[in-house]
Amino acid sequence: MLEIKNLVTSYGLIKALKGISLTAKSGEITCILGPNGAGKTTLMFTVAGILKPDQGTIEHNGENITGLSAPNILKTGLALVPENRLVFPTMTVRDNLDAGAFLRPSSDKKSVEEDIEKMFTQFPVLKQRSSQTAGTLSGGEQQMLAIARALMSRPKLLLMDEPSVGLAPKIVDEIFEIIQNLKDQDLSILLVEQNAAKALKIADHFYLLDQGNVAFSGSPAEVESDDILKKAYLGSDAA
Ligand code: ATP
Repeated sequence: MLEIKNLVTSYGLIKALKGISLTAKSGEITCILGPNGAGKTTLMFTVAGILKPDQGTIEHNGENITGLSAPNILKTGLALVPENRLVFPTMTVRDNLDAGAFLRPSSDKKSVEEDIEKMFTQFPVLKQRSSQTAGTLSGGEQQMLAIARALMSRPKLLLMDEPSVGLAPKIVDEIFEIIQNLKDQDLSILLVEQNAAKALKIADHFYLLDQGNVAFSGSPAEVESDDILKKAYLGSDAA
């Protein structure tokens, strides 16, 4: 379980997170919604250790990880799938997967190879493209590679920042199916999404961020049963 209390993160004088508290329960998909500039990526970067918070605490499975470096946070079982994939474009697909295991000890070499094969089974298109450079993959394939690369660290919780952004509708459906499958494999997921309608279909719980604060939190069922919320979250056609 991830437990965040009163998190404040700034860029110089700009406070991007103004006291965020939230919980992502184990084995669940917790979704973070919110307009541009709400602080979603800042939240993911702070949890992943890329940004240091000014205040607040972050606990992962009871361990206080506040202020730890990104590699040390990864070691606690928390891996980030960044916005816009950020695969290593000039490296092959296989080498990208290998890079995802960079913190595993060299004695783990055999099990890293086995995990790469597992990724190829789970994402067959990556096997077909294993010796191709990642920059030549389509957007959807790069997203699959970014997810598989994060899985190579054997995380317990996956931080996913807008995995559907910029992808064709059919591919978006595939990505959401993959996220649901990951949950079924017992992974916990903190998912940032602009696509509220799709995200709420797979989420167990959601938080709405607005200008660095939690504006609302609830379950997808609450949105479904309330016409005003439904209109607000799922658009004017939904109610
Ligand atoms: P989007 O959906 O557009 O990615 P977001 O919800 O992820 O938005 P953030 O990127 O976390 O929002 O930005 C939160 C606030 O912090 C915004 O006001 C943004 O302008 C500001 N901000 C983000 N990155 C920086 C930066 N590197 N330097 C200064 N301000 C920043």
